[in-house]
Amino acid sequence: MPELPEVETIRLQLEKFLVGRKIIAVEVRSRKILADGEKNLLGGKIIGVRRFGKVVVVDFDNDYSALIHLKLTGQLVFQGPNLPGKHTHVIFSLSGGKKLYFNDLRKFGWIKIVKSDKLQVTGFIGKLGPEPFVGQASSGQAPLTLEKFREILAKTSRSIKIVLMDQEKISGLGNIYANEALWLAEINPRRSSQSLSLSEQKTLFNSILKVLKQGLRWGGASDQAYLQPSGEEGKYQEHFLVYGRQGQICPRCQKAKIAKIKLGGRGTYFCPFCQK
Ligand SMILES: [Zn+2]
Repeated sequence: MPELPEVETIRLQLEKFLVGRKIIAVEVRSRKILADGEKNLLGGKIIGVRRFGKVVVVDFDNDYSALIHLKLTGQLVFQGPNLPGKHTHVIFSLSGGKKLYFNDLRKFGWIKIVKSDKLQVTGFIGKLGPEPFVGQASSGQAPLTLEKFREILAKTSRSIKIVLMDQEKISGLGNIYANEALWLAEINPRRSSQSLSLSEQKTLFNSILKVLKQGLRWGGASDQAYLQPSGEEGKYQEHFLVYGRQGQICPRCQKAKIAKIKLGGRGTYFCPFCQK
């Protein structure tokens, strides 16, 4: 599933491709993806692209916004080759003869059309926790500070990895970057969130920022369906620290092989020797 670095990469490209263009037509091939409301976008000019956690928000000058969640296998591709295909479910025709395609193999993704001023107070976005990435995020969400992070961890005895991935606690982190941050911080993903010491909390907080920045630097991870709007793949999968590396010797301690377990139903990768 695209996480903060992937969605931020998408946002940056969409901003470049879409801002200033008008919506000429919207073809909805699957009502599971976009239930209704697309007529409100017709004639609207795109004035900005924001991100809230893993959600992309396209803002129009007629006070409507489109919320887009890619979930597991969604893609937003700007006039790519071989499109539309059988996994193309929504096609936005734009001024200047361009198109934006929403593709989704598994069809868990969604698009919702809402009034822009209702965006942050209701529904999905209103429930998101603060996000760790400070800098290019244009969401207006309160950033996750170390103090807030400590507060979140202290309140629950659930395993630390599950807490990191809970979007209502912290938004933007998913399975890849939660695994990566815990390895970097030398913390076992099964540990109770409350059991982390002050220094472990700080190390983990910094590790989260570090892996997200690395992910963004490489344009996200295309280990599954993720594609950039330009049609190119991300390259972070070539730089994974621990994700997907089960059975390989831990590159840090070189004393154990990376283990893979299931935690909260998700593949969890860690070094049993140096992640305490
Ligand atoms: Zn190790």
